[in-house]
Amino acid sequence: MSNKMNMTTKILIWMVAGLVLGSLINAFASDVVFIQTYFVNGLFHVTGEMFISLLKMLVVPLVTFSLISGVCGIGDINKLGRVGAKSFGLFMLTTALAITLAISVASIVAPGEGFDMTQTVPSEFSAKEAPPFTQVIIDLIPSNPVAAYAEGNMLQIIFFTILFAVCILMIGEKGQPLIDGAERLNLVMMKVVDLVMMIAPYGVFALMAKTFSLQGLGLILPMISYFGVVALVLLLHATGTLMFLLKTLGRVSPVTFMKKMRAVQVFAFSTSSSNATIPVTLTTAEKRLGVENSTASFVVPFGATINMDGTAIMQGVATVFIANVYGIDLGLTEYLMVIGMAVLASIGTAGVPGVGLIMLAMVFHQVGLPIEGIALIMGVDRLLDMMRTAVNVTGDSAITTIVARSENTINMNTYNDPDAGVIEKVRLPHSPLKAP
Ligand code: ASP
Repeated sequence: MSNKMNMTTKILIWMVAGLVLGSLINAFASDVVFIQTYFVNGLFHVTGEMFISLLKMLVVPLVTFSLISGVCGIGDINKLGRVGAKSFGLFMLTTALAITLAISVASIVAPGEGFDMTQTVPSEFSAKEAPPFTQVIIDLIPSNPVAAYAEGNMLQIIFFTILFAVCILMIGEKGQPLIDGAERLNLVMMKVVDLVMMIAPYGVFALMAKTFSLQGLGLILPMISYFGVVALVLLLHATGTLMFLLKTLGRVSPVTFMKKMRAVQVFAFSTSSSNATIPVTLTTAEKRLGVENSTASFVVPFGATINMDGTAIMQGVATVFIANVYGIDLGLTEYLMVIGMAVLASIGTAGVPGVGLIMLAMVFHQVGLPIEGIALIMGVDRLLDMMRTAVNVTGDSAITTIVARSENTINMNTYNDPDAGVIEKVRLPHSPLKAP
């Protein structure tokens, strides 16, 4: 058991080490060419990027095989529709609660009032065109599934895979070998996840060291009011709203949940991507929380793609902040519009680093706030992206748990067992080639 415990702790230790080393480099060695060339842009950059690629490499095959086994495991199309509707409703609800809390707290604290614009040197922000909502709906359907797979378009992959799996069920007995095959392939992918986990501490270290050597913590100071309010609401939402929902709707212990979320949050924090974190979220939901594959395989990737509580919080606070900075008065109607837009935007926000900021342009546009204002908050967005992604994945997992509980597809013994499914050391089997 000590071996198992060591792994999560090890990841945490390496994460903090990377954070400290990166901050030190930023403070004392930002112009030492040797360190910048060979460490920041060399070792850290290469290791970090390779690690992210490894995680991303797992996502598409893992989601596909897991989803086929999951859908076939549910076996009942009505039930599938129910799980889909429930999770969609809950995802939208939590996002709406998140941004409402953000706007309320920000209105009270009023960050940005009396803000001296000369304190930060805003770089120009040119907003990328956000897709219109109608297009987001149309784009659910992949006109070419192979292209969807090649691009890693999660919503399209989910759509096609579910349709495909439902049809496997519909062909009856003949489909059984395909179901068996998908289950085996899913097992293999889970094993690949285990292997990648073995190098996770070093990958996390490299990512943290690189980010923090480029992003000095000093950057936060002029923006402390904005940064502080976003951080506060993220914390309130993760430890308040989500835990309340887990307790009331899920009837499970929020404390146990939070303890088991650590690894998922560390991965989300260091990769800033809900999508890249899917392998960890999925294995945690199944092995640590005891959620059956039939529920987790569907709700986890769905949530990583459309559920963005943390991002919505940033957008709510940013709206109030920029309105204050520019001295624009927003009324209740505008705020309601912001809430609606942010909830819709979260569906279109892919779980990759930094897109939240692009979708913010869409929200600003809608309520007539100056898009250039986004330039003001860009400097601290990298750090906030890390924090909000950790909240995004916590939300995904909380809803997965609640849906599983209501569907009776969660093993409460596993959920309540503190040691269930902790990342273990993987034992490599002897080469099968040498086997007699
Ligand atoms: N990085 C976030 C995520 O992947 C999205 C965002 O807010 O930019 O969940």
